[in-house]
Amino acid sequence: MSPSLVTMSYIAASSLFILSLSGLSHQETARRGNYYGMAGMALAIFATIVSDAVTSYSILIVALLSGGLIGTRAALKVEMTQMPELVAIMHSLVGMAAVLVGYANFFDHSSSLVGIEKTIHEVEIYIGILIGAITFSGSVIAFGKLRGRISGRPVLLPGRHGINLALLVAVIFLGYEFVLASQAGAGEWPLALMTLIALIFGIHMVMAIGGADMPIVVSMLNSYSGWAAAATGFMLSNDLLIVTGALVGSSGAILSYIMCRAMNRNFLSVISGGFGSSGGGGAAEIKGDIVSIQVNEVVPMLRDAQNIMIIPGYGMAVAQAQHAVYELAKQLLKQNKTIRFAIHPVAGRMPGHMNVLLAEAKVAYDIVYEMDEVNEDFPNVDVTIVIGANDIVNPSALDDPNSPIAGMPVLQCWKGHNTIVLKRSMATGYAGIGNPLFVHENTRMLFGDANDSLQSVLKELQAS
Ligand code: NDP
Repeated sequence: MSPSLVTMSYIAASSLFILSLSGLSHQETARRGNYYGMAGMALAIFATIVSDAVTSYSILIVALLSGGLIGTRAALKVEMTQMPELVAIMHSLVGMAAVLVGYANFFDHSSSLVGIEKTIHEVEIYIGILIGAITFSGSVIAFGKLRGRISGRPVLLPGRHGINLALLVAVIFLGYEFVLASQAGAGEWPLALMTLIALIFGIHMVMAIGGADMPIVVSMLNSYSGWAAAATGFMLSNDLLIVTGALVGSSGAILSYIMCRAMNRNFLSVISGGFGSSGGGGAAEIKGDIVSIQVNEVVPMLRDAQNIMIIPGYGMAVAQAQHAVYELAKQLLKQNKTIRFAIHPVAGRMPGHMNVLLAEAKVAYDIVYEMDEVNEDFPNVDVTIVIGANDIVNPSALDDPNSPIAGMPVLQCWKGHNTIVLKRSMATGYAGIGNPLFVHENTRMLFGDANDSLQSVLKELQAS
């Protein structure tokens, strides 16, 4: 294919990616957005395959087949609850690719660049490897934390801001040394040392992040992976990769900003990796009596209620209870009750987790509300059903300045008339802290797997 045709295909693919992002910003258009993205990616791969950039088709076919197979297997096997870990590990692959491409470029001496152009190319390599290594190690730690293999508790080294600053100064110094040395055809050592520092920085940054702050780190690593891809694009002189990387990088950065605002965290301190230590004094002990309730007692409460709010959390994903929730909502709607779903921005384990599950179960979008749209309305709610949610309905975020989640906005369901919490035990949520909501005078605990409990409630409701 001629270079101009390849460029045109790249422009078309970039436009499709932009359309994809805009489609993904609304639930109604998300499916279409996905199709645009798939078409854009197919076009990008096709144009790259037929371009002059490919020098060995055998390597390309092996890479395409093995990558395609691994991707297909992962997508088919992954449970909805494992999606966040999959996303984290995918980010780590983008980071690793940037590091490998950077080293391949560095060791490739066939380039004819000289003077300032060569220097610019060396800087691209350096920055690409730097971002790639941070993204790689940070994403591996995030994967471990999301999977529960690494504790969600923040590991705060004494003087960690000083350590971060020292690492930054070392990276700048090594960059200077690298550019100087590479003019003379050397530079391996500064580059290797910087890679090691970047890997340590990635680990240090994510280890220092507290449980409830993980959503911010997931979206931030998403952004980093975009910048790593853009850096790879510069190294390979591939315009499409630069554009796509910049799109992912900036949309990830915007998402991180939105997450920070939703969780009342400071964006700049997040970027420097210095967050997650708010409070740190541990949550106050929960005092009070737990009042449990049985399915047959839930049904009359629902029958008498007019205004019902449903708050889904991570436990709904674990129990795969979204279909039962949908059936229950449908049944209650038939009885002319007002049913609304309240979605906390960090409910579940990835941005939009609950929206995806509810959409999968075909819950109508117009009864699904963001936290800010309904939080003021809880005093008018007769019954709130909390389905496998914990941290996002924890009043200590507002009442207890020592709580690790102090300052995080939460769904204030305790202000309603009655709250029914569906969970299996008194176990803590992701942040690992007690929840005074469970002993609140208006709260009733319906213990058991959320799906089983909802099925039983539905059966009783239909029979009554
Ligand atoms: P939580 O993790 O706070 O709580 C989930 C609750 O679900 C648990 O207390 C658990 O209790 C219950 N549960 C688990 N399985 C079942 C089941 N089968 N049936 C019924 N209940 C069940 O979830 P939230 O959604 O309230 O909060 C999300 C947390 O995750 C926040 O701390 C957030 O910061 C963090 N996070 C969010 C990310 C995001 O992007 N959204 C990313 C990373 C972290 P029990 O075991 O007793 O049943």
